[in-house]
Amino acid sequence: MTDYDVIVVGCGPAGLMACEELAKKGINALGIDKKPRLDRNIRSASGFCFLDQPFMNETIRMESTGNKTRYHYTDSGFTIDYSAPMEGIYHSHMFSDTGKHWQASTRKKPFYNIFDPDHWISDRYKCAVENGAEFLPGTLVLKAKQSPGRVEITVRTNGKNRTLTCKKLIASDGLSSRVARSIKANQNRTNYGTGAHLEYEMTDVDCTYDRGDMFFFGAKNFGGRAGALIMIPSPNGKNAYRVLTMSVLPASNGTDILEYFINEGPYAHWFKKSKIIDRSGALVELMTPMITPYVGNILFVGDSAAWAECLYQCATMAGYKAAEFTDMELNGGKGFDEYSKWWQDHFEWIKNPKKMADYGKRIFLPRFFTVEELDFLFDLAEKNPIVVDEAEASPFDFAAMVFHHFMAMPEVPEYLKQRMQEVIDADQAKVATVIGKVQKA
Ligand SMILES: Cc1cc2nc3c(=O)[nH]c(=O)nc-3n(C[C@H](O)[C@H](O)[C@H](O)COP(=O)(O)OP(=O)(O)OC[C@H]3O[C@@H](n4cnc5c(N)ncnc54)[C@H](O)[C@@H]3O)c2cc1C
Repeated sequence: MTDYDVIVVGCGPAGLMACEELAKKGINALGIDKKPRLDRNIRSASGFCFLDQPFMNETIRMESTGNKTRYHYTDSGFTIDYSAPMEGIYHSHMFSDTGKHWQASTRKKPFYNIFDPDHWISDRYKCAVENGAEFLPGTLVLKAKQSPGRVEITVRTNGKNRTLTCKKLIASDGLSSRVARSIKANQNRTNYGTGAHLEYEMTDVDCTYDRGDMFFFGAKNFGGRAGALIMIPSPNGKNAYRVLTMSVLPASNGTDILEYFINEGPYAHWFKKSKIIDRSGALVELMTPMITPYVGNILFVGDSAAWAECLYQCATMAGYKAAEFTDMELNGGKGFDEYSKWWQDHFEWIKNPKKMADYGKRIFLPRFFTVEELDFLFDLAEKNPIVVDEAEASPFDFAAMVFHHFMAMPEVPEYLKQRMQEVIDADQAKVATVIGKVQKA
């Protein structure tokens, strides 16, 4: 006998979706999360959403229904509702160390849409509860242990420890999964280090550029500190943005960069009248993905098994599939093997490991060029702006799209074109030699 048939550890987008689907199937399941409120997002998650284009071998068709949006997962075969409209983003900007500006625009179809992670989480939680899902919030899962046909977890609620048991465990506890560490499931993964992120959501930002994402590079923008900063339009106001830093540890680097940027840097005047409406942070441990994301009766779902991030849209899809295949496993089928095949077939960085590198190339772009080279390229881009009708600019393809644009310009010298081709071809090991040292997990 076990307390539950299934326990879901971690109720982010993956875990909440799994709980909702398990409840719909009438499976005796419990969702556990350390957060006291499961209808709130507290971790930085900037709001990029890639719809109406193939992404992770799924195409999510967006249907606007008044003030709401319906997402049709056309490959995985399910539909969810999001209780707010989406905003398409048609412009993308980069700013060099010396203030040079680069812009790409698309006219008919947006590069991507933006959403509010808080809305997404509260919608999924509400649906799960409406379908009868059971939750245990405010509870930290400390460790997991397996014996044949059974998983035992130690949990702590209000300072008191106890154990709970289940037949199958879905570990959707995100990056740096504690469940994975407790059963040593990360031993074959390569660790490329941990980065710190800090995000302020700000309204009334007085930015005159076309509404779009903005990448800022270079020490001058950050008072001599190393790092990068992105501004992403936020759905919470016409002039609202999420301002997000990326830096090495300690996490206080992020605070220093962000505070300098909005109070003293060359663009501080944009923020004179702005208000901070939300603050969040996150540590991101970059590990190669799990290829077979289960060990015995424990299935790793969403970011717990991923390279960097599944994003909300794909973590949700992983949660849906996890419920479907856990049901099969409970009924004596090879559900976890089937989930593994689906995982390997859909997530780009498993099918083709070079995609791990492609995912970060835009952020690391300035590391491959000198300040003078970037200025030269950005000056050229000012004369030859990138304007396309439609772009499928997923995070995997964006850097290559930019480079191909420059490589087509006769003014760009051959040695720079060669460098761009090298960056396009670089795998994660090559990128890591440029950005830092590789460590073993
Ligand atoms: C800086 C940053 C920017 C991002 N930008 C975007 C973006 O633009 N668009 C996008 O879609 N996604 C973005 N993401 C990624 C997105 O947040 C993740 O891919 C997504 O949240 C993964 O969902 P998940 O359910 O797998 O894990 P998570 O969302 O991490 O959920 C894990 C859950 O497990 C709980 N938990 C963890 N450990 C325990 C434990 N031991 N006991 C109990 N509970 C536990 C946590 O409280 C959490 O609720 C971003 C992430 C970061 C850090």
